[in-house]
Amino acid sequence: MTQAYAAFNPTEPLGPYQYKTRTTGPKDIRLEILYCGICHSDLHSARNEWGGAHYPLVPGHEIVGRVTEVGSEVTSFKVGELAGIGCMVDSCGACENCDAHEEQFCLNGFTGTYNGVDKKSGGYTLGGYAQHIVVDEHFALHIPDNLPLEAVAPLLCAGITTYSPLRHAKVGKGHRVGVVGLGGLGHMAVKFAAAFGAEITMLSTSKSKEEDARRLGAHHFALTTDPETNSKLQGHFDFIIDTVSAPHDHTSLIGMLRTNGTLIIVGAPPEPMQIPGFALLMGRKHLMGSLIGGIRETQEMLDFCAEHNITSDVEVIPVDQINEAYERMLKGDVRYRFVIDNSTFQNA
Ligand code: NAP
Ligand code: ZN
Repeated sequence: MTQAYAAFNPTEPLGPYQYKTRTTGPKDIRLEILYCGICHSDLHSARNEWGGAHYPLVPGHEIVGRVTEVGSEVTSFKVGELAGIGCMVDSCGACENCDAHEEQFCLNGFTGTYNGVDKKSGGYTLGGYAQHIVVDEHFALHIPDNLPLEAVAPLLCAGITTYSPLRHAKVGKGHRVGVVGLGGLGHMAVKFAAAFGAEITMLSTSKSKEEDARRLGAHHFALTTDPETNSKLQGHFDFIIDTVSAPHDHTSLIGMLRTNGTLIIVGAPPEPMQIPGFALLMGRKHLMGSLIGGIRETQEMLDFCAEHNITSDVEVIPVDQINEAYERMLKGDVRYRFVIDNSTFQNA
């Protein structure tokens, strides 16, 4: 049996749960999970804030583990090797977006690592707050062996979610970039934008994070709660990447863009955004969304991180502190990603 932590309904804390994983199919690998990051999407899902939650729901899509079994047709992993799993475990493999290595936009819908309809075993997929997981090798990533594994796990979601749009927008030298929200995604956005050579301003509600923002690579820091920030930064940025998990004012962010500037939305609060058309018309402003990244780009991101020594700043916790971590994450008290040490299931 696999020990796990699950949400059983939207309102109560997560608790222990156990199940049998599917048997390892010909194209599958089985992992013993070593570490799993805690993403704010886990909390949105566990509490059914986006709708469509199926309980018991085992969250977790920032998974690093060791391969303990490989199917007869597996070619890219061997027993004993490290492997990573992000937000997807399946897609149709036949549509134009899958062909273009953008499985996250599979026209037939990708299968999420948790709470997804499991085409292989029926039921719903169960994620990384667990001891084991079985996955098709196509959706497993090769993990660099020169980086600390607990700090690599968050790259599988927070990393690729910020790397992909910054790359797509060709962010680099000469660009002024604003990063909104210094949490799991935000701190990776700062690190990548810095590695790409941009001039970065951290836009935060937490004065206490200023020193960290600069240490992570931001050149400037502005408090979004300070009324002067808005006027001081009018027309300033080429790009703003917005990682905020709760309702907030997007119109003032658009005002901080230069002509032709782009507001990149990666944060996913359940409430709809409210933006007057005029905010975009004046200055031909662009609004762009982005969802994680394809498997090939995720591998590219991991290889980039290995080369440039980029990892997440993490606070490692035992499994029985997941609920406390959720409460702290809700208060913005996260520096800058909680990561579960999955070996602690043995004592849980
Ligand atoms: P997180 O670690 O909780 O960070 C969110 C940060 O947003 C907080 O640390 C805080 O930063 C800021 N914030 C929180 N509430 C705020 C409010 N009411 N007003 C203004 N700022 C606020 O969350 P995360 O794991 O980075 O995830 C962020 C969002 O991205 C979530 O909605 C998540 O579901 C979504 N997400 C999207 C994708 C995708 O593919 N697009 C992938 C993963 C996650 P400060 O203290 O600096 O203000
Ligand atoms: Zn995530």
